[in-house]
Amino acid sequence: MKLAAKIMLMFLAVVMLMTAAGSYFSVRRGFERFEEQQQQFARDTADAIEDQLADAWRRGGANGLLDAMRSLSVPDPRHKAQWIWLEQTRISDGTGVQIIERRAGIGGDMESRTITDERGERHLRTFYPIDLGDSPRGGLEVTGSLEPLDNAARETVVTALATIGLMAIVSLALAYAAGMRWVARPLQRLIDKTERIGSGDFSDPLPTRGNDELSELARALNKMSDQLAAQQEKIRDEAAARQATLEQLRHADRLKTVGRLAAGLAHELGTPLNVVSGRAGLIASGQLTEEEVAASARTIKSEAERVTGIIRQLLDFARPARSQREAVDMTRLLEETAGLLEPLAEKVGVRIETRLAPQLFVRADRSQLLQVFTNIVVNAIQAMPTGGVVTVATEACEAPPPDQDTGETRPYLVSRICDQGVGISPEHLEQLFEPFFTTKDVGEGTGLGLSIAYGIVREHGGWIAVDSRPEEGSCFSVYLPLE
Ligand code: ADP
Repeated sequence: MKLAAKIMLMFLAVVMLMTAAGSYFSVRRGFERFEEQQQQFARDTADAIEDQLADAWRRGGANGLLDAMRSLSVPDPRHKAQWIWLEQTRISDGTGVQIIERRAGIGGDMESRTITDERGERHLRTFYPIDLGDSPRGGLEVTGSLEPLDNAARETVVTALATIGLMAIVSLALAYAAGMRWVARPLQRLIDKTERIGSGDFSDPLPTRGNDELSELARALNKMSDQLAAQQEKIRDEAAARQATLEQLRHADRLKTVGRLAAGLAHELGTPLNVVSGRAGLIASGQLTEEEVAASARTIKSEAERVTGIIRQLLDFARPARSQREAVDMTRLLEETAGLLEPLAEKVGVRIETRLAPQLFVRADRSQLLQVFTNIVVNAIQAMPTGGVVTVATEACEAPPPDQDTGETRPYLVSRICDQGVGISPEHLEQLFEPFFTTKDVGEGTGLGLSIAYGIVREHGGWIAVDSRPEEGSCFSVYLPLE
């Protein structure tokens, strides 16, 4: 139930209760007043006629007493007075003796009680004892009809009901209007604003007229909204700055790798350039037949394309690329990585072997993944100064996502890059992914490669696991969610 309706109903219930209680007490008070009046009347009458009745009793016995009673004039028409005996009494009326039964159920003191007659009317009876000396015990009984009081009570109830009904309608209307204006609408505005804040919309501050609690709450909410907006702006700026720094670091790391590759590529470029130069010399000598010239030109073209390909690959790798996710064929990507690094590997007597499962795709930024695998494979090559084999293998697997212990698993692509190099000591394993951790000489290593690789893989929803034995070799397993 809405708050305004609840307040309204509570208000109404209180009003009804108060009206009902007021009516009840007013009816009760009327009855008590009537009872008091009747008792007072009985007392006054008894005081006034006591001597007269005692005299009548002395002279005429019970008959005399009753005669005296009959001749009594009652000043208040609402009350009728008569004599009653509390003990059995005989009277004679000329024709014989009559026994008057005593009134049962009355003690000897003054008391009032309500009775209902055969017509269903209610009366109040008050007994007032009078001591006549040697007579049987008796007293004055005053009876008054309660009908006027009952009628008045009925009228009061009807009036109260009508008042309650009228009040209900008026107060409902008033409370509804007031509740809507002062409670429901401002509350709804507060709720809307809170929901908008929850969804990240900090615009449109609430109106804050007035000094009531809801206006204060609105002011507090506006203030909170402004603070959150400022915080969000700050977080956005910081995230942008962080992203820019990260991009710079990644780019620096790529350039470092390009530098490393350059040595291998000099040899790689030298061979086709020698072929181009030789063939061009032959053509220039003018000793070749037309067919031979054409064949040499084709060789020159294909070698030139090879050179262009190598340079493009290198430039692609070095160029800072805007992050964009696409379906990446991992077989092709790892083959490309191996191709790019082969010259470097060959120089130190290392062979790169690939065992790649076909048709495994991940949703990723191509150039970032290229950077990850280049860093790991370059490390593997450098871990084998006296040569050896680096194996690059892929397979699909089911694994629980990182940072989750629900026991649920998801399909992942795991790429394993294993070498037969120097291995990593257990104490170094813990620091492996920390930025600037390196065991290489100054100028050789920056300690950024693995931390950058780890950051990229985490951004793609994966992780990197390392298994290494000193002097036997290391295995880096890169997990990425399968498309
Ligand atoms: P850098 O290569 O510039 O030192 P990385 O973050 O790539 O930075 O590597 C950090 C360190 O991890 C390396 O200095 C090396 O000690 C260790 N490491 C990484 N890969 C291997 C590996 N395959 N075999 C042995 N040690 C490795």
